[in-house]
Amino acid sequence: MSRRRQIYEGKAKILYEGPEPGTIIQYFKDDATAFNAQKKGTINGKGVINNRISEFVFTRLAQIGIPTHFLRRLNMREQLVRQVEIIPIEVVVRNVAAGSLSKRLGIEEGEQLPHTLIEYCYKDDALGDPLVGEEHIACFGWASNEEMQDIASMAIRINDFLVGMFAAINIRLVDFKLEFGRMWDGDYARVILADEISPDGCRLWDMNTGEKLDKDRFRRDLGGEEEAYQEVARRLGLLQNDDGSAGEVFDMSAHRGKLRNTKPKK
Ligand code: UDP
Repeated sequence: MSRRRQIYEGKAKILYEGPEPGTIIQYFKDDATAFNAQKKGTINGKGVINNRISEFVFTRLAQIGIPTHFLRRLNMREQLVRQVEIIPIEVVVRNVAAGSLSKRLGIEEGEQLPHTLIEYCYKDDALGDPLVGEEHIACFGWASNEEMQDIASMAIRINDFLVGMFAAINIRLVDFKLEFGRMWDGDYARVILADEISPDGCRLWDMNTGEKLDKDRFRRDLGGEEEAYQEVARRLGLLQNDDGSAGEVFDMSAHRGKLRNTKPKK
């Protein structure tokens, strides 16, 4: 069998040429990075879980009419997606103040925002993905005004859907990052949702305890990142409980020992 061609290796994924033209295989690694790759590590089993969570989320989003690059999951760590031209903008959607927003503006982590905020960062590792305004995006031609309108309206719809989806499993969707791509059809390009949606790119807090169930456990050396990712998958019904039941509801007390130091900072 001929070895498939690697197109790109990123921090958390490897992209391979797909079996048909216009397709790509996304391979999910266990590698984790933070602070623009200054901190590196692995979270055992993360790739398998993120592949599954992202499949679940993208499939649900497609069901409500969001066009996505997802075609099908191939195996534990790989999914087949449409090849797109990635728009070099990270779209960050925020419901609650946290992370860089809190740092930048001095707003306490955990403060509910009066309304959903969309921020844009220019995707450039060398520059540390700087925050940019729509003016910069238009000025440098990273995306057209029409594309930005589509992106903003999709981001809001995605957020509304995901807030409800996570609330149903007792998780507060604090913020998350989206990436979009252009799918060419002759001279016409359509913007579709690309990349992944997983605890790597979302802040997910337990509604009752505030425990972090996302990559902040790795970023902030809280420990228990494997259990946290598994917990999100379990609550989504993607992993079985120890007793074999579907695992939609979870008693956090069972994981207290593993998820230490998790109260949001006051
Ligand atoms: N995020 C991401 N990739 C990035 C930057 C941010 O997935 O390169 C996600 C991050 O997980 C969080 C949200 O976007 O859910 C907002 O991140 P923030 O701007 O607060 O940056 P951070 O605190 O992670 O530096």
